[in-house]
Amino acid sequence: MSQHVYFFGGGKAEGHKDMKDLLGGKGAGLAEMTNAGLPVPPGFTISTRACILFQERGGSVTPAIDAEIERNLERLEGLMGKTLGDARDPLLVSVRSGAKFSMPGMMDTILNLGLNDQSVQGLKAKTANGRFAKDSYRRFIQMYGNVVLGIDKDRFEHDLHAVKKQRKVTADVDLGESALDDVIERFKAIVLAEKGRPFPQDPREQLRGARDAVFESWNNPRAITYRRLNDIPHDLGTAVNVQSMVFGNMGMSSATGVGFTRNPSTGVNEFYGEFLQNAQGEDVVAGIRTPRPIAELQAVMPEAYRQLREITSRLERHYKDVQDFEFTIQENSLFMLQTRNGKRTGLAAVNIAVDLVDEGVLTPREAVMKVEPQALDQLLHPIFDPKQRVKAEVAAKGLPASPGAATGAVVFTADDAVAWSQKGRRVLLVRMETVPDDIHGMSVAQGILTATGGMTSHAAVVGRQMGKPSVVGCGGLGIDTKGRRLRIGKRELKEGDSLSIDGGTGEVIFGSVATSPSEVLQVVEGRLAPEKSALYRKFARLLEWADEVRRLGVRANADIPRDAKVAFAFGARGIGLCRTEHMFFAADRLRHVVKMILSAARGQRGLEVVGRLSVRLKEAKGGQASDLRRELAAAKKEYGKAIADYTGSIRKLLPMQRADFAGLFREMHGHPVTIRTLDPPLHEFLPKREELMVDIATLRAQNARKNARRIAAKERLLRAVEELHEFNPMLGHRGCRLGITYPEVTRMQARAIFEAALQVAKKGTPVKPEIMIPLVGHVEELKRQKQIVLEEAEAVLGPDAKDVEYRIGTMIEVPRGALTADEVAREADFFSFGTNDLTQMGFGLSRDDAGRFLTHYLEHGLLEKDPFVTIDAAGVGQLVEIGVKKGRASKPKLKIGICGEHGGDPGSIRFFHQVGLDYVSASPYRVPIARLAAAQAQLEKPVGD
Ligand code: PEP
Ligand code: MG
Repeated sequence: MSQHVYFFGGGKAEGHKDMKDLLGGKGAGLAEMTNAGLPVPPGFTISTRACILFQERGGSVTPAIDAEIERNLERLEGLMGKTLGDARDPLLVSVRSGAKFSMPGMMDTILNLGLNDQSVQGLKAKTANGRFAKDSYRRFIQMYGNVVLGIDKDRFEHDLHAVKKQRKVTADVDLGESALDDVIERFKAIVLAEKGRPFPQDPREQLRGARDAVFESWNNPRAITYRRLNDIPHDLGTAVNVQSMVFGNMGMSSATGVGFTRNPSTGVNEFYGEFLQNAQGEDVVAGIRTPRPIAELQAVMPEAYRQLREITSRLERHYKDVQDFEFTIQENSLFMLQTRNGKRTGLAAVNIAVDLVDEGVLTPREAVMKVEPQALDQLLHPIFDPKQRVKAEVAAKGLPASPGAATGAVVFTADDAVAWSQKGRRVLLVRMETVPDDIHGMSVAQGILTATGGMTSHAAVVGRQMGKPSVVGCGGLGIDTKGRRLRIGKRELKEGDSLSIDGGTGEVIFGSVATSPSEVLQVVEGRLAPEKSALYRKFARLLEWADEVRRLGVRANADIPRDAKVAFAFGARGIGLCRTEHMFFAADRLRHVVKMILSAARGQRGLEVVGRLSVRLKEAKGGQASDLRRELAAAKKEYGKAIADYTGSIRKLLPMQRADFAGLFREMHGHPVTIRTLDPPLHEFLPKREELMVDIATLRAQNARKNARRIAAKERLLRAVEELHEFNPMLGHRGCRLGITYPEVTRMQARAIFEAALQVAKKGTPVKPEIMIPLVGHVEELKRQKQIVLEEAEAVLGPDAKDVEYRIGTMIEVPRGALTADEVAREADFFSFGTNDLTQMGFGLSRDDAGRFLTHYLEHGLLEKDPFVTIDAAGVGQLVEIGVKKGRASKPKLKIGICGEHGGDPGSIRFFHQVGLDYVSASPYRVPIARLAAAQAQLEKPVGD
């Protein structure tokens, strides 16, 4: 029979730190601390497997699990020498959720379980503290009533408030025992009225109810949203921790608190946290009372403080990571309630990982594993423009919960944040305090500002994790959510007014302030010397360690020299994709591009006809020759203009492209530069049909005669647009199909590449051009395009060919291309998977339209992840695997990369590593993420060279 319940207590636990899958993070931490001999109140953990069974059975546990829980409860009772809910000296327990990955505030907790009308008297007698006993009971009814019985919190708050008013007190702590008796009676009456039955008095029934409610909370909407936002699988389930209660609310010699062994916001090595005297755990995190900095605990309870520091330092060394801990002090005795690796900002993550190496706690390889690749993104957040910042008017100051500069229009609810941002506005979410239900609004806001709560309040924890600039506990704010107004000092702001926050200092600033790039970015862009930025140096060291480990190469998708420069500075060694068409949109080029497109069909045909006749003429004799001469003259007359327009515009584009490519070669300092021939459907370069129709109608209405020439030109354009119209352009005349029908375009691009390469090589910079043919589904397509490229190479390079080491390859982005990769490979020097198109065609999902229903799929769990963000390993991934296998079967040394958006996504990078690609190519700003993710992939699952 498999075990579902794991005991901890009496110096020994059945679990340990590596059992997070089964015990959840909290349960594994409690077991590990118990085994280490730390003061942990005993209890037991009901496993995540029991939760999964509970869900599968439609909301019940098996009788066997029930019996196992009962046995563990009896063991706990034996160890504590007390019985749950005993009338004279009750054992009381807390019941808390704890999943494998922490989900702060997402699921439910119940404290003081075991209290009832009798046991509350026992607690009173035992502690000689009636107020404490009654306060614990009323909290229990309130929590249980809300979490287990589903009664609205406000029902209880309303009555609590009524009693306070009647007794003329303002704070909960000022209610005396008899007032609390009154509250308890009212609360019980609420339960009876709402549920039609009295508050459960049987402690075992209370425990079953609480357990089931925690299991059910795994699937509450906020938990589901949280998991979706954080890529946590939905089928893990939560464990339930049942633990004997200790009390931080037994008077001023008791306290409760939370903390971190290092500052989770900056990573600075300082003891960091908050506590409240005479309070119970939830009071600190709920943000209701503003807690005191943990340093002050030293003066209040010196011995407990010393012990706490000693224990938490030990825990940090033991786990080799910053610890986030919870503790309670009951009448000067310290108890540890939780320890786990602390969540931190990207900034803190880098600082801590590198510091721990310098302190000898971690090896560089271990440090590489400690930083979430995606978290590096936060180091690249904007900061305020220093000049504007000096002039800005500081409105108020709160706690600096999550760094970064944010400016936006003030909104007061999460729903409004979503609605405004859907309209394209940047918003700042301003709340009294945030609750887990707000996360959809938090995720779209530029920043978060709250009036209450401390550094470990919900807004602070979640803001940090999301990498959102956040300022919390800003007492100077008068928030009127209903009236959508915010008062700061004498000023009043309405919804939509601009406000800024500095998550690094806690300052709130009137109006909007221009932001500028992060410190790391400034170094990368050459505007700040590396010696001036300690942060940059740590960032660079961490990534160097990653580079020593990783097997995958990292290149960048960059189209212009400026981006290539940034990419190189971020560590890209090569360009994996230059989308040449992006250069076509520049203002000085578009008109030539349009001319080329409009003349391409006739121009290309003309070239062919004229070419054919000229060849025949050369071989002809006598009368046949004069006939051909006449035919040729007629053809030239017929096609002359189209040919001139077509070749003329191509000639204009050639030097522009050459200059662009030369810039890319220079910025890549001898690393490969993959340049793709023209890819998108041509209509993308032309005006929209509807817009042209409106323009023509407007010109006519204004003055048809005067505008006649402009009208005629627009009408010509309209006809061309209509001729080019395709029902499925993404499956239409694009990719190599363009170069095949308009070979002059491929010829020009190949020539520009080789001329640029030669130019740069002659100046002493080595060059490695890679010419890439897109959208190949049949080997013959590649073969014919390759022939053109080879002809241009020969024509341009001639005897200099040795100076330019070039390759000709293809994108694999059409499923047929992947399935026939063995044939395609015979013609290719390299493959690069275009996973954007491969996902589009593999899944049959339009890249441009899928958003409309894909969100539904994600929200309803049909798909765990957006396949355009993270590669669909099971489906589209198979096409990649087949492509790799078949490609290398016919050409074992074939170089293979990927240049779709997935190249910058850590989860996808892991997959590409495992299937044996040589490199990934990501957007410049994701290059650091890719370097780190590639190293982690190798450390997790080494793949040989
Ligand atoms: C791809 O399809 O993955 C790709 C990189 O090309 P594009 O996104 O330009 O179609
Ligand atoms: Mg593509």
